[in-house]
Amino acid sequence: MKVLFLDRDGTLIHEPDGGYIDSIDKFNILPHVITSLQKLQFIGYKLIMISNQPGLGTAKFPYENFIVPQNELMKIFKDNKIFFEKTYFCPHFRENNCSCMKPRTGLIEGFIKSNNVEVEKSYTVGDRDSDVLLAKNIGCKNIFFSNKTHTGSVFNSHDWSAIADYILNEN
Ligand SMILES: [Zn+2]
Repeated sequence: MKVLFLDRDGTLIHEPDGGYIDSIDKFNILPHVITSLQKLQFIGYKLIMISNQPGLGTAKFPYENFIVPQNELMKIFKDNKIFFEKTYFCPHFRENNCSCMKPRTGLIEGFIKSNNVEVEKSYTVGDRDSDVLLAKNIGCKNIFFSNKTHTGSVFNSHDWSAIADYILNEN
C-alpha cells in the first residue's frame, strides 16, 4: 500500500492566525485540495491525516469545538468520494514529551507495520519542519507545502495542483 500522510492545518485547510480551528467560521478548505486528492486516490494512494492538535480536550480547546469543523471536512471529502483510511491527532503539548507528536511516529507506526506500507512510494505532505522530519523518521519522502524550498523535501509548492502533478509524474 502506498500512502499520503497529510497534515491538516495549513495544508488541507486554512490555518487562522489564532491557531485553533475550533468553529465552523474558521474553516476553509484550501484551493485544489479536492481535485488533487481525487486524482491521487485514483492512482492508488491511500490517505491518512496526521495532525498535532496541542491542547485538544482542554478547556481552551474542547473536543466538542474541534470535532465540528473536523466532521465538516470529512463530510466534504466523503461527498467528493475522497476516503481517509485513518485520521490521527496528537493532543499533547511539547512538554508532555509524548511519543505521538510529529515528527515522532507513534501515531502511525502500527498502521505502517500492519498494512505493509511501501514507505519508499509514500509521502508526507505538510507545511512544517515536523512534516519533513516525520518523512525522514518513517523512511518516506516529503513534499513541503510551501513556496520555500526545504533541504529535506523532494518537492515544494503551495499549490495542490502542482503537488498532484508532481506525484502523478513520479508514478
Ligand atoms: Zn502526543
